[in-house]
Amino acid sequence: MTTEHMLVVDNNTESIGTILATVEDTNTTATIARTTEEGWNLFQQDSFTRVVVRVRSAAIDGLTLCRQLRTVASREELSIIVLLSEAELSLGAEALIAGATDLLLDPFERRELRMRAGIIPNDVQRRFDQAHTPAAQQTGTLSAPQMVIPEFDAASLRFGYGPYGHRLEQWQQDPTTHSMTLDRIIVCPKCEAIPTVRPGCGACGSAFVEQQVLIHHFACAHVGPADEFQTKDGLRCPKCHVSDLIAGSDFEQTKGCLTCADCDAIFTEPQMIGHCLSCQHRFNMKDGKLLDLTGYQTGPGHSAHIPSPNYMSDSAHRTVQRTGRHDG
Ligand SMILES: [Zn+2]
Ligand SMILES: [Zn+2]
Ligand SMILES: [Zn+2]
Repeated sequence: MTTEHMLVVDNNTESIGTILATVEDTNTTATIARTTEEGWNLFQQDSFTRVVVRVRSAAIDGLTLCRQLRTVASREELSIIVLLSEAELSLGAEALIAGATDLLLDPFERRELRMRAGIIPNDVQRRFDQAHTPAAQQTGTLSAPQMVIPEFDAASLRFGYGPYGHRLEQWQQDPTTHSMTLDRIIVCPKCEAIPTVRPGCGACGSAFVEQQVLIHHFACAHVGPADEFQTKDGLRCPKCHVSDLIAGSDFEQTKGCLTCADCDAIFTEPQMIGHCLSCQHRFNMKDGKLLDLTGYQTGPGHSAHIPSPNYMSDSAHRTVQRTGRHDG
């Protein structure tokens, strides 16, 4: 993973603290400047790919710094995140014109900064990858994970928390652990595994539906399926028996209903049909189960004791399910 250098031009102790906590143990390093001038000087001494700058304070003029930075670095080369309070929101448009690529409302959560700045938490990433190797499934104790996010497990075809599954209950009750809903997905209503999706027949779930084509004969106003007009001598209206019909001048084609090739059901709109990769259940996606994917930001002093090989065990699945209901 390449290291990103981030320059932070801010003199607010609280937001600096959040920023430093966010980049700790990630692919990103942060250098702090407390005035506009210091920020500009530091910027010229290192190859920064990202600047976080406060829009305005006693010592900082974020808009001027933005303009100055844009004279030497394009938007492709450098992203600039401008920090502003709710009361300063009116400066947001000005900041974007001055060269900011993103605005971040202060106070902010680590998650927000992480997402905006594309900061990758090294450690969590590494732990989840290791969970698939035999070595990682041995009993052991790791220092506190910063952020645990549900990951797709290709073996079970479900989202889970890998070796941290057994900690969820504790985290849900711990006031120093913050849970946040990261996404809401549709899973198999029977077993909660991930489905594939295709447009298809709402009656039987078949993907093989055929679009009927209708012909409208202008002269007699008859509308019927195209195949009723087809004869071996060309197109002929089945109602008024005029033949040699010419497209455009004699008739127009329109789309008719959809017909299921498997069950002959007739309908106007295809449905989104899910097919569970685990239990092979086929269902209308409207009947799929909504599942919240919840991330956990653990507080200080948590050690993550990893149990032996029951990685992605049934108990982990039940906990994921419980989490979904808990937040939903
Ligand atoms: Zn059908
Ligand atoms: Zn006709
Ligand atoms: Zn299923």
